[in-house]
Amino acid sequence: MALYVKKFGGSSVATPEKMLNIANRVLRDRKPGDKIVIVVSAMGDTTDDLLDLASQVSSVNHGREMDMLLATGEQMSIALMAMTFKKLGVPAISLTGPQAGIIAGGAYGKATIDDVKPDRVLRELEEGKIVIVAGFQGLMPNGDVATLGRGGSDATAVALAGAMHADMCEIFTDVDGIYSADPRHVKGCVKMKEITNTEMLEMARLGAGVMQPRSVELGMKYHIPIHVRSTFTDEEGTIIREVCTMDGKNEAVRGVAQDAHAARIAVLGLRNIPGVAYMVFSALAEDNITVDMIVQSVRNSNDDKTDIIFTIEDTDLPDAKRVLEQMRDEGKLEEVIYDDDTAKVSVVGAGMLGTPGVAARMFGALGRAGVNIDIVSTSEISISCLILRKDLDKAVQAIHDEFFPAAKAE
Ligand code: ADP
Ligand code: ASP
Ligand code: MG
Repeated sequence: MALYVKKFGGSSVATPEKMLNIANRVLRDRKPGDKIVIVVSAMGDTTDDLLDLASQVSSVNHGREMDMLLATGEQMSIALMAMTFKKLGVPAISLTGPQAGIIAGGAYGKATIDDVKPDRVLRELEEGKIVIVAGFQGLMPNGDVATLGRGGSDATAVALAGAMHADMCEIFTDVDGIYSADPRHVKGCVKMKEITNTEMLEMARLGAGVMQPRSVELGMKYHIPIHVRSTFTDEEGTIIREVCTMDGKNEAVRGVAQDAHAARIAVLGLRNIPGVAYMVFSALAEDNITVDMIVQSVRNSNDDKTDIIFTIEDTDLPDAKRVLEQMRDEGKLEEVIYDDDTAKVSVVGAGMLGTPGVAARMFGALGRAGVNIDIVSTSEISISCLILRKDLDKAVQAIHDEFFPAAKAE
């Protein structure tokens, strides 16, 4: 007897037929006494369609109302999925995120899961039902529903699995595991048997959209392994866990990640005195804007002005513009320049700590591919370069070929 949390993403539940296939598969794999919680995303491109609908009504992001709208996508899926099981004669119940005890905090549109109170889910499981939970949403302290950021159903699944001490959290998706790069964009990718959660977190943070970064953090918090695998085949996928036994242990670089949504902002003509960086970044933080790469450029040493260049997610650009243009109008800086035709490419691997020359190889691959590097940033286990978005595909392929030459030759 075991407790499983199984999450199915948007493309996995895109049609009633696909829902039926999922239900049949879950029932086929269920052993007597097993308890099953299923977390689902909105069907297909529903979330994008809802965002598009909202933009036709207003160009301003009305946080609370936007979340009321977006949460309906997942609510459709849970109801249809529960009906599918019932049609097969199997007891099942659909629960929204708030009904399932997903307690959220922070800002609308990018809320965090602060707590999970799974009492209702456990009660329904005890009654022999398959419980189907809406991903991507939680209950705010004021009673509102909030969404958890794009890809947030992953976080719902991992948090529920962690809070209920599930035996396994499975993320079913449209790829059969985690690869050395996005297999939809890069040729010759290598599938991993396992990846450490620190490496996966870095990959996800740097743009590998297969797992939402916060979901990987939740896996670390709850010490729960996550199995990422295909909805459409029975093949073993990739296990994300704290320590890997052998897979990839000797490689300096385990993966290449890409992020097409990095926007670049240059704030020019700030006074060159202590406290100006604080002034800029605290104002952005107050608006819940996360800043990524930062460079403060040195002008002539006796210049009394300085410039700061940084990147943010392109979806935050309208909010950042508002904040920074207000500062400009108040005379706190001279000029702001925005660039949303930029992208970020990164290499990730815990092994690079003890391996010299990883940055040189990455820069060499970019140079040979004719890709110019704008900004570089590093962490202990990653190196990232900001480049022009138009160069992204060839940059990722060139870097992947450099670090995975065997795969290239195949
Ligand atoms: P779901 O709707 O199931 O949540 P997502 O689209 O969010 O699916 O995530 C799966 C996608 O992640 C894949 O189709 C793939 O294009 C992308 N992806 C990005 N990086 C990787 C990687 N390193 N390994 C596997 N898939 C990746
Ligand atoms: N439906 C949401 C999205 O498209 C959440 C998810 O799929 O995980 O981002
Ligand atoms: Mg996803």
